Amino acid sequence: MATIQELQDKTKEFVDSRDWRQFQTIKELAVSASVESNELLELFQWQDGKELDKKLLSGADGDLMKKIKNETADVFLTCLAIADHAGFDMEEAFLSKLSELDRRYKKEQVKGKSVKIPSDD
Ligand SMILES: [Mg+2]
Repeated sequence: MATIQELQDKTKEFVDSRDWRQFQTIKELAVSASVESNELLELFQWQDGKELDKKLLSGADGDLMKKIKNETADVFLTCLAIADHAGFDMEEAFLSKLSELDRRYKKEQVKGKSVKIPSDD
């Protein structure tokens, strides 16, 4: 199993070996992250979420699962490319975010509840 840093390094190698860095700006990568996220969303457009969950959990729709994995990987890869381009460590950013969410959404206050707690920034 690869670490997030190893995946970030593989993403860098993928981009550099194709000489694609010249086309990448933070704006283009952010646009790509949004486009890939919307390709994931498009798989579910006009469908019932609970029915989709039933199909997925029963394994009844292998083709849908394949598409979800593919689009989710696109989103993740693009996020790793953003981290590489901007020069930050995605693993550290992820753990920092999780820690912030843990402080904001205290278990004893939110357990079993769907709530939105605004961030400080
Ligand atoms: Mg895609």
